Amino acid sequence: MNKLNFLTAGMPLSNGNKGYDSAFKILNDMNLDGLELEFVHGVRISDNSKAIVKNSGLIKTAHAPFYINLNSKEDDKVEASVQRIIETANVTNELGGYSITFHAGFYMGNSKEDTYVKIREQIKKITNELEKTNNKIWIRPETTGKATQWGDLEEIIRLSKEFEYVLPCVDFSHLHARYNGTHNTYDEFSQMLELIGKELGDIAINNFHAHLAGIDYSSKGEKRHLNLEESDMNYKDLLKAFKEFQVKGVLVCESPNIEDDCLMLKQHYATLLS
Ligand SMILES: [Zn+2]
Repeated sequence: MNKLNFLTAGMPLSNGNKGYDSAFKILNDMNLDGLELEFVHGVRISDNSKAIVKNSGLIKTAHAPFYINLNSKEDDKVEASVQRIIETANVTNELGGYSITFHAGFYMGNSKEDTYVKIREQIKKITNELEKTNNKIWIRPETTGKATQWGDLEEIIRLSKEFEYVLPCVDFSHLHARYNGTHNTYDEFSQMLELIGKELGDIAINNFHAHLAGIDYSSKGEKRHLNLEESDMNYKDLLKAFKEFQVKGVLVCESPNIEDDCLMLKQHYATLLS
């Protein structure tokens, strides 16, 4: 990607119950750059919508279903999770998408190492399957907001190193919540970006996929998303670090007010560049 792009998580609120056609028109009118398809309750999109999304001219990413646990103790649940990720990757690739993201799984009382090994095995199945159809979309496990969920930044970087088309989806709000308030200063954002660049190379910085929202949290981690101005999420310093590290790719805004915070982020970022 040649710049940092700002995407809404799902269709804009002001779209009401209308479809993708008017959603993309709103995004265009607001000068936003694209949309993350929310397949969180299942990979469902009509053929008519597919044509609209594909021809929108904007950037598309997708969030895979929430019902995914690659570390489930039940084999059929693991297999269903693998299939949901493959399905998300196939549909999003068909739509000309850039990247897909998912919450990979839970520790389920297992050690970090055992969980890693199990998740890596499933990711291998997924990438092997996508390779067969020459699907080169980015596959991105997301950094998660609770200590019970697999996916701190180090784990996701480690996994990304092992597969050509796997890179992190860095949800900065989740990391801030996961650690009950840290990961929220310019220095901390810089350290994370530096680590990603050092471990994964320029390709990761030039093809970034980030999530951001205001967030409420406790010692147990993420509680709920908030609008940025109602939270302590330090988005200004995050954008400053993005500029400093010349991060290119997509930043998906997951605030409840969807397009409003997305536009605020894009406009604030523009002031840093001018
Ligand atoms: Zn997510």
